[in-house]
Amino acid sequence: MPSDVDAHLARLEAARQAQLATLPQSPVDVVAAAHRGAVVRILEQVRAARQRLRAGTYGECAKCGTWIEPARLELRPWLVTCTACAEG
Ligand SMILES: [Zn+2]
Repeated sequence: MPSDVDAHLARLEAARQAQLATLPQSPVDVVAAAHRGAVVRILEQVRAARQRLRAGTYGECAKCGTWIEPARLELRPWLVTCTACAEG
């Protein structure tokens, strides 16, 4: 995998991290809590993707083991399954 994927993931991680810092942490505002939860989930997925990149398994479908379509990864580089597995 080219190193620019890691650079791209690093930028995504930094952006989500910065976004998280601006989000309110209100225990009563369910909309804010849901939004925060969504950002946290993507942040975790981006970090996991960077770990897979280091482990050399980045881009491999976690279910069937084939390579995830490049266009799909370009759109959401943190995904772990190919289109077929995601839909099936
Ligand atoms: Zn698959």
